[in-house]
Amino acid sequence: MKRIAFTVLLLVLVLFSSSLSVLAEVSDVIGEHMEMIALTFDDGPHPGNTGRILDVLNKYGVRGTFFVLGCNALYYPAPLKRAIREGHEIENHSFDHKTMNKSPAELADEIERTAGIISSLSGRRSRYFRPPEGKCPPALSEALKTLGYEAVFWTIDSEDWRGKSPDRIVESVLGSVRGNDVILFHDYTCPNGNTVLALDKLIPELLRRGYRLVTVEELKNKTASLN
Ligand SMILES: [Zn+2]
Repeated sequence: MKRIAFTVLLLVLVLFSSSLSVLAEVSDVIGEHMEMIALTFDDGPHPGNTGRILDVLNKYGVRGTFFVLGCNALYYPAPLKRAIREGHEIENHSFDHKTMNKSPAELADEIERTAGIISSLSGRRSRYFRPPEGKCPPALSEALKTLGYEAVFWTIDSEDWRGKSPDRIVESVLGSVRGNDVILFHDYTCPNGNTVLALDKLIPELLRRGYRLVTVEELKNKTASLN
């Protein structure tokens, strides 16, 4: 009888210790996957580049955030509709990129005009605004506050707009990337398609490192829930 009790005890101990190691492994995986990164694309939509970027994002099953200009959304609604249909996030980047030397009222009108174009295509009101060139003068801050927008900048500039080669874009991003980064790319100005080629190398490596590639809204919601 004692022998049976000892065997049962031994079995419980083995099961318990193995379940602890399984739990540790699971929490490691969860810990890794809590590290999120948002890929963002400015100035589009573009009749060619936006679709090519969507192809790469979809190839790896990840979603991005497109900060669009109202004027380009009017000219090129097709790639924007596709991005919406495929589950990417569409946010506001002003009407024509010209936000300097305008009054808060003029800026609010243009931002609202862009928001109207986005919501007519997506059925969703944009919540976030990326200030053109990362500059947010007082008049723009006032307009955003009035409209209830949150300004979203970036933590890593891929510098694709400078014409960097795909390998240099990949190297510089991987050299500094960390959890919660917001990475800036461009779908309107990406010389030689280098952004597309860089993404095709960068995304699988970020995934291999255990990052989750999410939209800006998902990243913001996670950050808010931790505060
Ligand atoms: Zn821009």
